[in-house]
Amino acid sequence: MMSRRQGRDKLAGGWASTWRHVAQRRGRAAKQEMPMHALLTTVVLWLSANFGLPANHDHPLLKFVPERKIVELRYKGLAAWEPQTGAVPAGLPGQRLTVSVYDDVTKTIYLPEGWTGDTPADLSILVHEMVHHLQNVGKLKFECPQEREQLAYKAQEKWLGMFGRDLLRDFEIDGFTLLVSTKCMY
Ligand SMILES: [Zn+2]
Repeated sequence: MMSRRQGRDKLAGGWASTWRHVAQRRGRAAKQEMPMHALLTTVVLWLSANFGLPANHDHPLLKFVPERKIVELRYKGLAAWEPQTGAVPAGLPGQRLTVSVYDDVTKTIYLPEGWTGDTPADLSILVHEMVHHLQNVGKLKFECPQEREQLAYKAQEKWLGMFGRDLLRDFEIDGFTLLVSTKCMY
């Protein structure tokens, strides 16, 4: 009998290999096509079932851009706090690296070019940004940008937990970082 953990790994591997197959056959454009659409639908249903977010199947655009572009977008104010890693990019001493960004106006999720969706951590980034998309299209109101992050990180942590992982291990986000990232500061 297959354990639950193995079952999940197999599921993720199956999806990723479908992606690779299509991507190899059809090039980068395939990232926007069928497997991605199905994945986004799955994430919407999961978020709706687990966190009560209004399900909306008008999916966001996905753009794969260099990491420096994501950092630029963040500093333009698209996102106050986004999933970050302990990795420090060149030229930004002491700063944490912004992994991904969601733009409310264009309904676009920006993911780094190296994103493959092959790991629980990669997929958790998508889960995080899909929370922002559903918050946006659902017209949910927040007192401050950080408040939007509470559910985004909660969902990301729950997703990682299904694979025996967590925010600290995969993103070096500890309790204190999480607290200051998700509380309104006045
Ligand atoms: Zn966020």
